[in-house]
Amino acid sequence: MVLIMISALVTIILFPQIVFANKMKYKNFKVCSNDKINHDIKILLDNATALVQRSELYDPDYKYNVILCHNTFYNKIDDRLLGVGPSARARLNNVIIKVRIDPTNNLAVATFRKECEVNLTYLLAHEMLHCLQAKKYGIIKFNPFSPPELWKLEGYPEYIARKTQLSSKDYSLTKEIERYINLDNKATDRWILTEEGGCEAPAYYYKGRLMIEYLMDIRHMSYDEILKDSVSESTIFKAMIKWKDSTSSDHAKVF
Ligand SMILES: [Zn+2]
Repeated sequence: MVLIMISALVTIILFPQIVFANKMKYKNFKVCSNDKINHDIKILLDNATALVQRSELYDPDYKYNVILCHNTFYNKIDDRLLGVGPSARARLNNVIIKVRIDPTNNLAVATFRKECEVNLTYLLAHEMLHCLQAKKYGIIKFNPFSPPELWKLEGYPEYIARKTQLSSKDYSLTKEIERYINLDNKATDRWILTEEGGCEAPAYYYKGRLMIEYLMDIRHMSYDEILKDSVSESTIFKAMIKWKDSTSSDHAKVF
C-alpha cells in the first residue's frame, strides 16, 4: 500500500499534467491548469521562446508542459517535498509556475521574501533553460540533489532570459559588478534589487549571472566550455573584478 502511494506520488510529481483539468496545446507547449487558461499566455510563450532561441541549448523540437499550479494540491505536495520559496521550478520537461500569474500583464506575483511582481516571460524562459540544461547534460549532472556549481546552474538561465535588456545601450556590466560588490558583505543573507517589479533576488543568483555574462560576452566562452572549465569560482570572480577595474580606469582616462 505504502509502495503504491509512493509510486503514485512520484508519478504525479514527474508527470503533473495528468492531474490538471484544463489543457491547452500551443506550438511546443502544453499548458495545464485547474483554472480557465488565459490565452494571452501564448504571446508570452512566443516571447520566452525567442529568448531561449539565443541559447546554444535551444532545441526546436523540445516539448514543454507548462504547469500553472498556484493554489492547487499539486503545489502543496511540491512545497512539502522540495521546500517553500521559489516562484517556479523545472522538472523533466515541466515548467512549473507555483505563484499567481497575470499573463495579460506579463506578471507573476512572487511571495518568497515579500510580495512583488516578476516578469512572467523571464520566469518562463529561465525555467525552460533549466529543462534544456538537464536535456543536454543529463539528469545525473543536472538534478536538485547534485547540481553543478550554483553560479553555473542559475547564472546561465538568468543571463539568457535577460539578454535583450543586457544588450541595451544604457546597460553597463561594469556598473552592475560595482553594484554587486557594494552590497553589504557582512550580511549573511544578501539580496539585490532586480530591475523590475520591486523584487529582490538572492545575491548569489546575481553574482552567477554577472560571472556568466563576463565569461560569455567578454571572454567569449560558450556555456559548454564554462561547464567543462575547472577554474574556481573565486579565481573567475577575481579576474572579472580585474577586468572591471581596467575597463573603468580606461574610461577615466578618456574623460
Ligand atoms: Zn533557476
